[in-house]
Amino acid sequence: MKKIIKRIAILLLLLLIIDIVLSKPKKVIPKSIELEVEVALEHFPELKEVPIEFKFKKNIKKSVMQAQPTIKGIFGSKENRSYKILISEKFKITGEEFKTTHVPKDVLIGWIGHELGHVMDYQNRSGLNLVAFGFRYAFLKEYVKKAERAADSFAVLRGMADYIIKTKRFILDNAKIDPLYKERIKEYYLSPDEIMEMVKEIEEVEQN
Ligand SMILES: [Zn+2]
Repeated sequence: MKKIIKRIAILLLLLLIIDIVLSKPKKVIPKSIELEVEVALEHFPELKEVPIEFKFKKNIKKSVMQAQPTIKGIFGSKENRSYKILISEKFKITGEEFKTTHVPKDVLIGWIGHELGHVMDYQNRSGLNLVAFGFRYAFLKEYVKKAERAADSFAVLRGMADYIIKTKRFILDNAKIDPLYKERIKEYYLSPDEIMEMVKEIEEVEQN
């Protein structure tokens, strides 16, 4: 009898350990950007329980950050969906390279806010819709524009307009930044003027 109790106790202990090992924390954030991520996350209370891993990558094609659902998340149920936000270690600038973590704090917060805007957009989509989204995003310019402007809009609606504008200005007013990247920002994203217009509209709705 004692033996059985001992075995059950060991089994329970093992299950507990497995559970602790397998249950991932809701957010995984590298130390160097922890403060900026936390400020951005405060604007999105609906993402509090959503697992998101922020991860540095050596280089990302055409962008500085990229939000994506995990494979498991696409095919699993919506409630169990998880995301990755990839961040390029280096920021492409003509002539010289500098680290993404070295851009001004508010600019980085705006950048992260935009990515969380993408996560908000993904949260509203089904798995099948996300797959279709990926294809359209890869092949249709108009669709990229739609998706990027939606991500900016989500962040502005959550009160991040100042940060988002700072990020756009940092890119557009920086003489050292690759002109091709600037063109991309102008073509696909909300402009600082459009963001200010949007803020005005939100304020008007709130007053009425
Ligand atoms: Zn984006």
